[in-house]
Parts: sequence; C-alpha cells; structure tokens
Amino acid sequence: MNPIRITVWGENVHEQRHELVRRLYPKGMHACIADGLSEEGDFQVRTATLQEPEHGLSERTLAETDVLLWWGHAAHGEVRDEVVERVRKRVWEGMGLIVLHSGHYSKIFKLLMGTSCSLTWREAGEKERLWVCNPGHPIVQGIDRYFELPHTEMYGEPFAIPTPDEQIFISWFEGGEVFRSGCTWRRGNGRIFYFRPGHESYPIYHDPNVRQVLKNACRWARPEGIWIDSCPNIPVEEAPEPITAQGETIHLPGEEGFR
Ligand code: ZN
Repeated sequence: MNPIRITVWGENVHEQRHELVRRLYPKGMHACIADGLSEEGDFQVRTATLQEPEHGLSERTLAETDVLLWWGHAAHGEVRDEVVERVRKRVWEGMGLIVLHSGHYSKIFKLLMGTSCSLTWREAGEKERLWVCNPGHPIVQGIDRYFELPHTEMYGEPFAIPTPDEQIFISWFEGGEVFRSGCTWRRGNGRIFYFRPGHESYPIYHDPNVRQVLKNACRWARPEGIWIDSCPNIPVEEAPEPITAQGETIHLPGEEGFR
C-alpha cells in the first residue's frame, strides 16, 4: 500500500494571541495534530497555515495530498476564496477532507454542505461523552462504546447540516445537550468527516482516543481513485454501438459544451 499523504491545515491564530493556547500547543495546534498522525508509519504528514503564501495550499501541495485536515476558528473570513475553490475541486476529484471542531463555520465546509452549519454552544469546561453510533465503522476501530473528555466546549443541536450519510458519534454534555459530533458525507468523489472535539483552550489533541479517531479517519478518507470530472462529449463515431446521427443538433462538432 502506498503511504497516505496528509496535510494538516491550521489557522494558527489563537496560538499567537493566547498564552494558554500556546502553553497547550507550543508548536501550534496543527503541529500537535500532525505529531499524533505521524505515529503511523505509513502516514506522510505535512502542515500548512493561514499565514503562508496561498495559505500553504498551492495547487501542487493539494495535488500531493490524499487527506486534508482543517482547523479554523477566528479567521474563517481571511481564507481566500480561490484557495477554498481549489480545495473544493480536489475534494470532488477524490481528496479526503476532515473538518475539525470550529471548522464547522469554515468557508470550505459551508460550501460543501450548502447549509449554514450553525449550532448552539457554551464555553463552560464541562464533560463530554462521545457515544459510538456504529461500532463496525472503520473510523471507530479501537474505540470503546464511548469515550469522555473531561473539559470541553459544548456544541449542541440543532446542527444545521444536511443529513449525514453516516452517523459515527453522538455527544452528550454534562449540561444536558446532545450533538451529532461525528458525521460523514460524500461530495463528488471525495469523502468528508466532521469531528467535533478540538476547542483550543483544552488539551484535546493530546487525548489518545481523539488521536485514534483521527488516524482511523485518515485511512477511511483516503481516495480509492481519482475522478477528473471533465464532462466529455462522446462523438457519434465513438459510441460503443454503431449509430447514425439524426435530426438537428444544437452543439457544433467538437464543441466543449455549456458550463
Ligand atoms: Zn471552540
């Protein structure tokens, strides 16, 4: 099996502004997430941040990425639209996308979902219990019936997403709310996983269960094949069975067609 090429994209803003976040993630949250994934021998992991040219997501980097992880919160609006469009195109071709925590409001997630992706929330350091909905799913291998995070930000329903293809986790919070905290979708040829935990003021990306889920999710989301969707015109003479063109045509021979 070829190595899985992973890019961890981090907004890298809170780490610069808040001493607490810097203490938890001295090299940045993206580096901590990448370190966890790098424990897998067949993962080739790199990082990219908002502050780099093209946010670290050049055409070439994306072409060499099988799975992209996305963490953003305070600066969704600063992500350039042409980079978002580039990521969307790659997902449609087959690149896996794992959207983390407050990435629910990122431009790329909202674009791919087509809904507002809003939710209810509270920052009170309460306990979260993540229930596994589908124990047979590749993303939860090695995870028990549930796992807990002692201190988290609460995200609650309603979560304004399209109905997921698969429900992987449901969270219960100490304050009583519940949330669809692990969901999958397909968009084009690409697989998408949203995973809720990851508030910047708690050491969540050091948690062994969270790390296990992210490793599993990268394996699940890797492309099985790439589909460059060019919408080709098949001329009469290339039809699988011999046919004769009949009637009037709107398109000229060899024309690209309307987009
Ligand atoms: Zn948060």
